[in-house]
Amino acid sequence: MNDSNSPDYLLLYCTLTLRCNYRCPYCYLNAYDGRLDWFNDHSPEEWMEALLRSFPNRRLQFELQGGEPLIYKPALEFLRILVDSDNVDYIRVNTNGTTVDKLARDLPSPKIRLMCTYHPSQVALDEFLGRLVVAQKAGIVEMAKVVVVPEEFDRVKIEDMVRLFADEGVFLDVAYDWTRARDYRSEDLRFLFSLRTKRDAEFAMKCETLGQRCAAGVNYAEIINTGDVLRCQDRGLLGNVFKTVHLLEKPAPCPLIYCCCINRYSHMLSWRCGDHHLANFVARNKKHREGLPETNWTTELSDVAFQRLVDPPRSVAARKRGLEMRAEHFAKRVRNKVAKIKRQIASKQR
Ligand code: SF4
Ligand code: SF4
Repeated sequence: MNDSNSPDYLLLYCTLTLRCNYRCPYCYLNAYDGRLDWFNDHSPEEWMEALLRSFPNRRLQFELQGGEPLIYKPALEFLRILVDSDNVDYIRVNTNGTTVDKLARDLPSPKIRLMCTYHPSQVALDEFLGRLVVAQKAGIVEMAKVVVVPEEFDRVKIEDMVRLFADEGVFLDVAYDWTRARDYRSEDLRFLFSLRTKRDAEFAMKCETLGQRCAAGVNYAEIINTGDVLRCQDRGLLGNVFKTVHLLEKPAPCPLIYCCCINRYSHMLSWRCGDHHLANFVARNKKHREGLPETNWTTELSDVAFQRLVDPPRSVAARKRGLEMRAEHFAKRVRNKVAKIKRQIASKQR
């Protein structure tokens, strides 16, 4: 595993379909009819040819997602083509786990790295875990994830679940439903964030990235069903794989107020861990959890951070408010520090 970006790798983020066999209450997609599926106009082989033509001399990595990509037959054919290609090093698949046991039996390639999300409203834990363990034994699982909704928050249950997965050799990331941030109690959010390193949690809390230099567009790009290639988060058109593509020549400032996802923010130059971003995420957060509670950083978490979470800085007015709050917070810290120093001096003089 590399800790730094190798210059010739290119991670392609591909939403192959929005179809899904589940109906999670927190899903931002509704039941979908397949209009945005990747393979409506081009076969998996045509896509692969276009990708290899567009990105010659690059070591390709993929992140395939949906909806649920593994229930979509052409996506499975595409996955098989990627596994067989010498130009492809790594294929992350984001899945709800429904068919991962079958995948482990049919295509147990070490290139495949699964990120399996457990959705408690849709599947029983033992059923999900049973399939996950089959995939884990085949060596294709990188990480599992669960989203805990506010009304089902139970710290003891979460800790038990984290242990249960760890006993099977799987790291379980625990996420909150970001569309309902204001419905959690702040101590519950604090606990969830304490399970991640400070920097990883900061991104879940919509840490600002505007203006920071990022290799998205150089080592990372997103491809949509028309073949259009975008720098990140639906922005920055770089071309089309069925015509021509011009990736950026060097890292450029981030144009967005905040970055939402590990595959993306790990390309910021301040991180330099875009290559194998998920394995790196698991490694550093596993280490962080081993050190808990000593490394529980959330006691430092200020109201400013929570405010940002429930009211992300989307508009200029919100950003201004965020900056004012940060300034107030900073002034308060300085005042506290000065008061503490004065107390220390006074006690020495006594
Ligand atoms: S499994 Fe994922 S894509 Fe499917 S409904 Fe749930 S959140 Fe949405
Ligand atoms: S930090 Fe995130 S949003 Fe900003 S350019 Fe990089 S990938 Fe895009």
